[in-house]
Amino acid sequence: MECFNELKAKAEIIESSPLYDQLRPIADAITRAAQLQYKHPFKFYLVHEAQPNAFATPGRNVYVVDSLLYFVKNTEELAGTLCHEVSHTIHHDTVTLMEKQREIEAREVGAAVLLGPTRAHVLAILLIGKLHSLGYSRDVESRADLTGSDVCAATGYNPWGLVWLFQDFKDAKIGQLPQLLSDHPNDQHRVDALEQHFRKNPPVFGKFNSDPKSAKPLPVPKNAPEVFLR
Ligand SMILES: [Zn+2]
Repeated sequence: MECFNELKAKAEIIESSPLYDQLRPIADAITRAAQLQYKHPFKFYLVHEAQPNAFATPGRNVYVVDSLLYFVKNTEELAGTLCHEVSHTIHHDTVTLMEKQREIEAREVGAAVLLGPTRAHVLAILLIGKLHSLGYSRDVESRADLTGSDVCAATGYNPWGLVWLFQDFKDAKIGQLPQLLSDHPNDQHRVDALEQHFRKNPPVFGKFNSDPKSAKPLPVPKNAPEVFLR
């Protein structure tokens, strides 16, 4: 809720845009598939930011940065990212991270009282919306990958999308790299864990094609208009 109000105050939440036409079918499928593991239906919001990203906050909200839709190469990569994010919520990682954030915030604001209220305000703003950069551990990330791939398989979207995304990270230039999914974008360990998970569950994963050439394109309109929630 805090995060929602903060994003709304910054007029970053997109109320309507043709981009939702790309997001909605994936979001609906994930919400249906995740219902077995999480009682609250997820709510997906597009937000406008320069850095491609996606993040879940405690409760049911998942925020998807508009530029992520332009960054991913296909539908499966977007679906994989969103499945990964909802898995953090399913595992209650977001709650743990929020608590960590509050501790840091309290410490920072405590320190900032000495520096004056303006500085405290700046720090508070910097901290909000940076959930991911606070850092999940590699194991927490890997666990979200595996549950995410289960959710993806249940939706029918090819869970190999996550692996393809990691491969794209390797090819992306430094500075272009989105923070999403991890602080260790080149983590081969996470790809290995996913591949092992797929091999161990042939009834679930065997039917999916590992070749990115089989991916479904994600047709995103260029410079799509966006109306912001105010
Ligand atoms: Zn993550």
